[in-house]
Amino acid sequence: MNLQNRIERLQDELRALCQSQNRSFDEITLIAVTKTHPVELIETALKAGITHIGENKVQEAMRKLPMLISKNYSFHFIGHLQSNKINQLLSLKPALIHSIDSVYLAQKLHLALGRTNRMQDILIQINSSEEDSKSGMGFAEAEAAISEIACFSSLRIRGLMTIGKLDEPEISRPLFRKMKELFEHLRESNLPGVRMDYLSMGMSHDYKIALEEGANMVRIGSAIFGERTYGVHN
Ligand SMILES: *Cc1c(COP(=O)(O)O)cnc(C)c1O
Repeated sequence: MNLQNRIERLQDELRALCQSQNRSFDEITLIAVTKTHPVELIETALKAGITHIGENKVQEAMRKLPMLISKNYSFHFIGHLQSNKINQLLSLKPALIHSIDSVYLAQKLHLALGRTNRMQDILIQINSSEEDSKSGMGFAEAEAAISEIACFSSLRIRGLMTIGKLDEPEISRPLFRKMKELFEHLRESNLPGVRMDYLSMGMSHDYKIALEEGANMVRIGSAIFGERTYGVHN
């Protein structure tokens, strides 16, 4: 099956999943995670109907995105963000940064934005599985941190992001459910500067479960592009 077929098949599957949940497919954002993949392949994906792409390394995005001929896409930054890479990342004009995981990082981002006079849409990353290897805030600290981050006038909090366990996907179901609860709770709290529009969760192995538990943004790499091989250029 070629890339175009895989994308169509995935979109059909997402559409069917939405239908079975009485949701509209239009409210789901499919992000094709293009990390490790070459510019030509990304170009093909964009021609096949992909409109959102995700990268997890600033360096790699800096190298690839300027080479894309098609400009008809939104760029999502989904990886761990080091504060010394913020200015480079901002130069790529990300539509959404999914990985704000501390008040400190948010403040650095706010200060960098102050020099550009721009607003930046962000998601707050939650470490829902509470594994040390993952970034993100704990559920317990999230609400207080979000209230603080909301005070940075150049940031717009648009929702939450998490990474499920890289395991049997059912194991992540209760985590995704807790994410949805926090999402709804924050939505009802109506904090100034906080909008809960996007719940970014679900990858190739667990997007069905994430959608069933209320995700409206999925980040899918290998189910579109095949397995990744990490080489010297990634
Ligand atoms: C790589 C990555 C994905 C996509 O992973 P797949 O398993 O290939 O679908 C999603 N989210 C984040 C944060 C990633 O780093």
